[in-house]
Amino acid sequence: MLNLSAGINQAVAGLARPVEPSPLRDPVWLGWSEDMARTLGLPARATEALLKQCNGEGPFTLPPMAQVYSGHQFGGYTPRLGDGRGCHLGEVQGYELFLKGSGPTPYSRGGDGRAVIRSAVREFLASEALHHLGLATTRALAVLGSDTPVWREQQERGAITVRVSRSHLRFGHFEYFKHSDQPKVLAALIDYTLERYFPDCLTGKKPVQAWFFEVVSRTAETIADWQAMGFAHGVLNSDNMSILGETFDYGPFAFMDRCDPGLVCNHSDHHGRYAFDQQPAIGWWNLQRLALALSDHLDAEVMAAALAHYQQQLVARYLWRMEARLGVASDGEVQSRLDLVADLVEMMRRQQVDFHRCLRSLCRMDPGIDDNALAQWLGDDAQWWSWLSRYRDRLTLTELQPWQQQRARANPNVILRTHLAQQAIEAAENGDAAPLNQLHQALRHPYDEHPDHPHYTEAPPSWAQSITLSCSS
Ligand code: AMP
Ligand code: MG
Ligand code: MG
Repeated sequence: MLNLSAGINQAVAGLARPVEPSPLRDPVWLGWSEDMARTLGLPARATEALLKQCNGEGPFTLPPMAQVYSGHQFGGYTPRLGDGRGCHLGEVQGYELFLKGSGPTPYSRGGDGRAVIRSAVREFLASEALHHLGLATTRALAVLGSDTPVWREQQERGAITVRVSRSHLRFGHFEYFKHSDQPKVLAALIDYTLERYFPDCLTGKKPVQAWFFEVVSRTAETIADWQAMGFAHGVLNSDNMSILGETFDYGPFAFMDRCDPGLVCNHSDHHGRYAFDQQPAIGWWNLQRLALALSDHLDAEVMAAALAHYQQQLVARYLWRMEARLGVASDGEVQSRLDLVADLVEMMRRQQVDFHRCLRSLCRMDPGIDDNALAQWLGDDAQWWSWLSRYRDRLTLTELQPWQQQRARANPNVILRTHLAQQAIEAAENGDAAPLNQLHQALRHPYDEHPDHPHYTEAPPSWAQSITLSCSS
């Protein structure tokens, strides 16, 4: 049983309202994270009593709650959003538990309050995948499937993801209380946020400013990590931006297959606002929306310094990851360091190589020889020889084998590619959760070799290109 305790929803009046979850019919476990269960002090294996609670049936010692927030969606402000298809159960060991897909709430805006197996499984797998790659993300305890019919473009089946994070606060929460003219609730929310999640910021003279800079740093680092690992979020609306800087609210996300910086994974994003290479700029745009929401609590001149801070953090973090991937020295002039990485990515784009497999080949590369593993991917490029000579100048290689082993720890082998998720989803929809669980286990060890499952690490099949992802999930 979940031993739930009160948290932000009880502490900040006006943030959330009690809701009655609508349980799924005949729910079954599709996925369960033992790691997360351990963190929460739960049994390694899911029980019947937990299934009832994760399905919203209870019993609950606290009323489930839905929070109100707003946000900028595709650039335009929506004055009221909120938890339209989910509810907060309360906290366990300092983590909030949130059911996504548990039926309508006062914030459903005409929606059915449901999630389907496809979207719930994708969120479950993605949060596990990013976590084990070392990226900041919300987590998931479990995913439940059911026979409950849910209508999308066709009839699908209802599911619930049990999402876990220390906080589900979004930029949009602060926007809501600012723009709906509720300064007292906004102030109470800021106080709670600082005391609970950012206590270090309270020690200086300007706590809100210190906190804002911390959010700027974390956002920059998370987005830099996405750029380095080839991850596109797909819907970077300000209501999907976590105040903790975690990757938040998985919808039509994708890891790249072929290197394509212009990748738009969200089929509904007609103008490419959330294209892969737009993410750093969008992150800053969203931070500006947050700053506006906090404008009564921040000094006016803070933004220029915050932008410089954002850019510096983003570049430093991106170089930190990419130089670890490449195995080159992380000193020297920033522009030439960035050029080495950017010129490599540009070659990868021109040669239309697979982003992850190309970089993974570094763990088999002997950079001293001309016919090396990376040359097999990029050797035809006009820039290859000049790039290789610059690369050789910057290498940290002393002994080949340990250098290659370090490249294996920095360049993942198993990636949650769209088609791998799709295969697991189709099996789960047909009542077989084994492929999903196998993939989940592999994603927990993304840097290892997986000889028993060669298709996890092979090139994607041709049909992978035709999968489309949209917001309606
Ligand atoms: P998203 O695109 O998932 O970030 O969701 C944007 C907003 O729409 C949030 O307020 C969601 O709670 C709400 N929403 C998304 N899907 C549904 C649904 N099926 N029923 C009700 N509300 C939804
Ligand atoms: Mg959302
Ligand atoms: Mg969503």
